[in-house]
Amino acid sequence: MTQKEKSAEMVRKNIRAIRCSLCNSPMKVVDFKSLICSNNHSFDFAKQGYVNMMIRSTNSHYDKKLFAARQKIIMESNLYALLHQKIAEVINKRIPPSNDEIRIFDAGCGEGSHLKRILDECKNEAMTGIGLDISKEGIRMAARHYRQSIWLVGDLANSPLANQSCQVIMNILSPANYTDFKRILVSDGLIVKIVPGPHYLKELRDACFDDTDKLVYKNDKTVSLFKEHFHLVDMIHVSYTTRLSQLELLYLVQMSPIAWNSKKEQLHQFINQAFSDITVDLDILVGVKKQTKGDGA
Ligand SMILES: [Zn+2]
Repeated sequence: MTQKEKSAEMVRKNIRAIRCSLCNSPMKVVDFKSLICSNNHSFDFAKQGYVNMMIRSTNSHYDKKLFAARQKIIMESNLYALLHQKIAEVINKRIPPSNDEIRIFDAGCGEGSHLKRILDECKNEAMTGIGLDISKEGIRMAARHYRQSIWLVGDLANSPLANQSCQVIMNILSPANYTDFKRILVSDGLIVKIVPGPHYLKELRDACFDDTDKLVYKNDKTVSLFKEHFHLVDMIHVSYTTRLSQLELLYLVQMSPIAWNSKKEQLHQFINQAFSDITVDLDILVGVKKQTKGDGA
């Protein structure tokens, strides 16, 4: 079986989770090579195994170099290791082991490394990951490296995930579409959203900006918006530092949009340290769907 056929088979087993991004109809896998809906809209599997379900092309600012740097940091440094453990603990605590399929949807997954790491930490064979991102570069890289999950290019504003198809939604340092998340989640589903705290990557921000006070992340608005849509059942603050090598500091700069507009001399100093302790300061918002009349329809 080619990678494309293996991916098509995995999508076929989870076909209930996919809908047409043009007309929202159910889809089927045809000949191990295409997803076709009941109105005959067709999306082909790429040879790496992902499916591009965008209905129009968009320019993502995120390029290959950024995703390659992100992958190095997430997979090879320990910068996010503790975060991944905490998220896996939250998921395993709230989604008890069962023989039923459990789908974990990573909304805005980039090159897929967070999803890969978290699934590895969960150690639950019943879990299938589905990663969606608007960037074809990111999804192509995810499909090439992490073959155990389903990878889709798509838009959160018009996502190809079916109603009540996922038990868990993760949204890691990425924009949300709560209305759509509620549609996609099963009735007792879980949402795990990661937002930056005031000291997140402060060493990098100190190097990028003169007046960091202006750039302190405040989560009050994010939390209240989250609470409008979900019951906030837990909020876990994760804060620690990890030592990164000189090469890892370079990767950190390459993967961080905040570094793109900064003055080169200051960044030069940052990258030229033999190593630096980098602060990870994040909040994990854990929510469940609010039960309202008409849910399940
Ligand atoms: Zn269709």
